[in-house]
Amino acid sequence: MIPLVDLKRQYALLREDLQTAIQWVMETSVFINGPHTKQFEQKFARASGARYGVGTSSGTTALHLTLAALGIGLGDEVITVPNTFIATAEAITMTGASVRFVDVDPQSYTMDPHKLAKAITDKTRALIPVDLYGQPCDRKMIAKIAEQHDLFVVYDAAQAHLAEFGGKPLGGFGDAVCYSFFPGKNLGACGDAGMVTTNNLELERRLRMLANHGRMEKYTHQVPGFNYRMDEIQAAVLDVKLTHLPAWTKRRRQIAQLYDIILSGCPVVTPWVDERVNPVYHLYVVRLKNRDAIKSALADIGIATGIHYPVCLHCQEAYSHLGYQKGDFPIAEKYADTILSLPMFPELTDDEVTTIGKIVRQQVAGGGAQVSGARLTPLSAKG
Ligand SMILES: *Cc1c(COP(=O)(O)O)cnc(C)c1O
Repeated sequence: MIPLVDLKRQYALLREDLQTAIQWVMETSVFINGPHTKQFEQKFARASGARYGVGTSSGTTALHLTLAALGIGLGDEVITVPNTFIATAEAITMTGASVRFVDVDPQSYTMDPHKLAKAITDKTRALIPVDLYGQPCDRKMIAKIAEQHDLFVVYDAAQAHLAEFGGKPLGGFGDAVCYSFFPGKNLGACGDAGMVTTNNLELERRLRMLANHGRMEKYTHQVPGFNYRMDEIQAAVLDVKLTHLPAWTKRRRQIAQLYDIILSGCPVVTPWVDERVNPVYHLYVVRLKNRDAIKSALADIGIATGIHYPVCLHCQEAYSHLGYQKGDFPIAEKYADTILSLPMFPELTDDEVTTIGKIVRQQVAGGGAQVSGARLTPLSAKG
């Protein structure tokens, strides 16, 4: 069985370093607001091309914290895309502001700047474009529109650690950039964690204060804040893993390239890459006909796949009160029915990628019919 993501293989490679790091935190017994968080914030911000990093308890709280720090609240509107993980929209809802969606570009699957201007109203205060699957959205056009309309831009880079736009890492773009270190992300903690990066010192101060109960000093609270801090065990684990992230990212790109080659010339739409970006392939997502039949045929053979995401947010019960209807965002909706995420993690072997690619080709040719005798032998045993 080849899983979509296999975190055990990574742990096997890092076992000693991670155990040492965790044990060090246990020995010092400083679990919150300690040296590991400070060090990791600085290192991750630097790696992301940002001046400041504020560790948070998750990617979701990073997004909510940022909107709160920017003063977004009741009566405001924030625009995002309908084809993202629900956390992006939840962060807006948590502030009391209302969510507005805009459809995505048919090639990049990210916020379509050409449709954005029409979605902006006099209540719109901020944008949350998403770097979906690890491909940076069109930062140039989005920044231009945001400037014209005097809007904040908070990028959701939860899937895009170390990705680049115009040769620059993403951390310093817009007002702030939010990252997630959920275990399955390109850089994953052993629990929940996240970060906000920014080049704005005043915003950094406010983020840090709000994330820590609105505190100036131990019992001096300037405003009612949140408990959104990153904890020391997560920071220590992330610090160990950050050293490996450039190599893992390189490997993800190699795997994507191998998939591209194997799947070329068959009726599968492989990821399009904007020439201005350097993506990091959090997911390798293809589009194909008979998606559901092919997905279950692959599962029968022993290849796990995913759908990111099967239901657009405007079609979720959670957001039915916004009054959107099926058909409002045709690109995002069409893709929800045809996308398929193939296994993607740095420890996948070339043999495994080749096998998956060939079986996908066969399945596409057969329209998802069972290919006899194709049950996969467990290649993972080889390493
Ligand atoms: C994972 C993810 C989040 C939420 O991050 P958590 O750390 O799980 O809270 C937000 N947005 C996107 C696009 C994500 O993929």
